[in-house]
Amino acid sequence: MARRIGILGGTFNPVHIGHLRAALEVAEYMGLDELRLIPSARPPHRQAPLVSAEQRLAMVELAVAGEAQLRVDDRELQRDKPSFTYDTLESVRGELAVEDQLFLLLGWDAFCGLPSWYRWQELLEFCHILVLQRPDADSEPSEALRDLLAARSENDPLSLAGPGGQISFIWQTPLAVSATQVRQLLAQGRSVRYLVPDAVLAYIQAQGLYSGQTDS
Ligand code: ATP
Repeated sequence: MARRIGILGGTFNPVHIGHLRAALEVAEYMGLDELRLIPSARPPHRQAPLVSAEQRLAMVELAVAGEAQLRVDDRELQRDKPSFTYDTLESVRGELAVEDQLFLLLGWDAFCGLPSWYRWQELLEFCHILVLQRPDADSEPSEALRDLLAARSENDPLSLAGPGGQISFIWQTPLAVSATQVRQLLAQGRSVRYLVPDAVLAYIQAQGLYSGQTDS
């Protein structure tokens, strides 16, 4: 039987409940065999974070510990080049059976940025795309993206058929939480309890992360 695998890539600097609830709710709703959180090593579109890739990975591992449907995949940290989603999808796809279904989860902001990604128009050759709402994002899709949506969208995410090729919007509890907000609160010496799992908070405190940073 075809397996159903989801992927949520990100900087996870740090991982927060917006990522985790979305991942869990989508995994349950879509009946995924597993949903992999894939921290990026050197994000191609952003400045290198001050917190190391290993620390971001450790926080994601702590966050999903004991949650069977959620896994951490560290392949982007094993690579000595920028983390292009194209390469990641190609590599994951290479490990799956041809009929297996792959779903790439993208928050609305990330989806709107898609046209700047390496070989973005070929991503659907590897996977379906599930777009997550982000109540705090005010991004607008470009014309190229609107054309792609017109050609490839499917209203019901549960009707996505075959290994990949279509786009669907999926509802999840709207949580206007961002890693930027978490970093800013910590930089101001304020609490981020309940915005990140307790184990992640304990790690942040033990490692002294984000306290002196002023990045946004
Ligand atoms: P930053 O504030 O540093 O930009 P972020 O909170 O957007 O970080 P990322 O690691 O960049 O987190 O996000 C990884 C993926 O998760 C992206 O596709 C992003 O759109 C999605 N995502 C992040 N936060 C949420 C949220 N609150 N709800 C839904 N999707 C989210």
